[in-house]
Amino acid sequence: MDRRDELVANLADVRTRIAAAEHAAGRASGSVQLVVVTKTWPASDVMLLADLGITEVAENRDQEARPKWEACAGLGLRWHFVGQLQRNKARSVTSYADVIESVDRPELVAALDRGAEEAGRVVEVLLQVDLADPPQPHRGGVIPVSLPALAEVAAQASSLRLGGLMAVAPLGEPPEAAFARLARVAEDLRVKHPEAVVLSAGMSTDLEAAVLAGATHVRVGTAVLGGRPALR
Ligand SMILES: *Cc1c(COP(=O)(O)O)cnc(C)c1O
Repeated sequence: MDRRDELVANLADVRTRIAAAEHAAGRASGSVQLVVVTKTWPASDVMLLADLGITEVAENRDQEARPKWEACAGLGLRWHFVGQLQRNKARSVTSYADVIESVDRPELVAALDRGAEEAGRVVEVLLQVDLADPPQPHRGGVIPVSLPALAEVAAQASSLRLGGLMAVAPLGEPPEAAFARLARVAEDLRVKHPEAVVLSAGMSTDLEAAVLAGATHVRVGTAVLGGRPALR
């Protein structure tokens, strides 16, 4: 099978899974946005995906994302950044990312706001919630009790737009339970920030559980592109 045929088949599977999950959750068909996580895969794959109707892609390392974004300019893609982010990368990432999903501390909000302002852009941000109990600091994310303060800072940043929340299911627990907690955190957030409607949750192995809990965006890598080569 050539790469294009492989992607066509995998995308059909993933779209079928999303549609079934929407149906099972009693949600409108087409209400969940597929974001394809293209990390470790070449720009040629991103071009094929764009040709196959994918409109949103995600990357997790600035040094890899930037050249791919440059190579894929003009394809009309929305670029999500989903990796842990250091402040010194904020200026670079805000120059090309449309959505930054891994925002988890006030210093990072400030750096991203400055970067977006310098670039003359308004960048959407999602606050990454650490769903683990106890927290798993190495995986990133703000603990739920600290979320309201962070949301306030993000909502007031003039070059950022608070879109909503992102989370990764913690290890060692069924994803259903973790995503149910996330849904409650999201509901609380929307009391003060009704505009923060995005809920980015669910990956290749747990997208059904996320859709059931109200995810608006699923981030799928492996199920579309295949197993990633070992990290370089
Ligand atoms: C890699 C990654 C994904 C996609 O994971 P798969 O299991 O390959 O679908 C989703 N979200 C984040 C934050 C990631 O880093």
